[in-house]
Formats: sequence, structure tokens, C-alpha cells
Amino acid sequence: MDQGAYAEFKRHRMMTQTPQRLTTRLGWTTPLLITEAGFGSQYEAAMEAASKLYEKLHAFNPDVAQYIVPNGFNRRVLAQFNLREAFAFCQLRSAANAHFSIRRVAQKIYEDISRVHPLLSKYMKLREETWQSVEENYFSKI
Ligand SMILES: Cc1cc2nc3c(=O)[nH]c(=O)nc-3n(C[C@H](O)[C@H](O)[C@H](O)COP(=O)(O)OP(=O)(O)OC[C@H]3O[C@@H](n4cnc5c(N)ncnc54)[C@H](O)[C@@H]3O)c2cc1C
Repeated sequence: MDQGAYAEFKRHRMMTQTPQRLTTRLGWTTPLLITEAGFGSQYEAAMEAASKLYEKLHAFNPDVAQYIVPNGFNRRVLAQFNLREAFAFCQLRSAANAHFSIRRVAQKIYEDISRVHPLLSKYMKLREETWQSVEENYFSKI
């Protein structure tokens, strides 16, 4: 997920989260609205500049380098949670008023759970959207 989504993900207290350091090395997401508004190339240039500065700072100290990483960059996090939290998280964060960045994560987790535990996930109530449709409708680059 991108760091913007992670800021929302980390609010969920009923789970154990193990995030990796924030880095520019996992790439960034570009919201479709940025490109539609004609700011695509400026946005890309800003993200490239952040990546370069990150590498300079990383050579000094990887912990310090995290501070200059913009929220659009991707981050890896390992999360462990029970079924109760799966219901709470997936239903809340796939709602229409949730940001598309975290809706994408909630729908993907829901789909993965459905694949392994269809009997349990069938009681989850998520809106008619998929993580693929979120990516298609809200992002120009993942
Ligand atoms: C669409 C959306 C919009 C949001 N907008 C905002 C916003 O504008 N500003 C903002 O600050 N936040 C916002 N939030 C974040 C929200 O306030 C919560 O931080 C987030 O949803 C995680 O908390 P939670 O209680 O829902 O779930 P979790 O922390 O995952 O916990 C799940 C459930 O476990 C129980 N639980 C967890 N911890 C405790 C505890 N310590 N004591 C007792 N019971 C506990 C409760 O039943 C809880 O609902 C938003 C969330 C959503 C889904």
C-alpha cells in the first residue's frame, strides 16, 4: 500500500502490524486526478527528485531518510489479525466515504480471505467494488 493508505491502516488497533522502513525504492502511486489535471509530469519529477534525495540521505542514515519520503510511495507491512478485525477493517475501509487508496487495500484483503475462507467471508458486507476497479478508476500508476 502507499504511505497515505498506511496512515489509515495503522489506526486499526486490533491487529499486530510490522511495517518495513519507509523507502522510495518500492515505487509510487499516481492518482488519476493528478494526470487528468495536467500535473502528471510535475508530479513524476517531484517523485524522482524525492527518490534521489532519499538515496543521498540513505547513505548517511536509512532511518533519517524516511522523513523525506512523500505519502505516494509504497510501503510494505506485515499484518496479523483475527476474523473480528477482518470484518471491522474490510467493511469500514471499503465504504464509499473511505479514501480510494485504502479501499483498494480493504477490497484486496477481502478477496484474499474469500479465496481461502469463502464460508466466513460471505457474511462480510462490502460495497460493489473490486480492488481492480479502484485501481482502474482512481490511479494512473500503481
Ligand atoms: C471512512 C472512515 C473515515 C475516517 N475519518 C476519520 C477522521 O476524519 N479523523 C480521524 O481521526 N479518524 C478517522 N477515521 C479513523 C477512525 O477514527 C479509527 O481510528 C479507525 O477506524 C480505527 O479504529 P476502529 O475503532 O474503527 O477499529 P480498530 O482499532 O481496528 O478496532 C476494532 C474494534 O475493536 C474494539 N477496540 C479496539 N481498541 C479498543 C480499545 N482500546 N478499547 C475498547 N475497544 C477497542 C472496538 O470495538 C473497535 O471498533 C476514519 C475511519 C473510517 C473508516
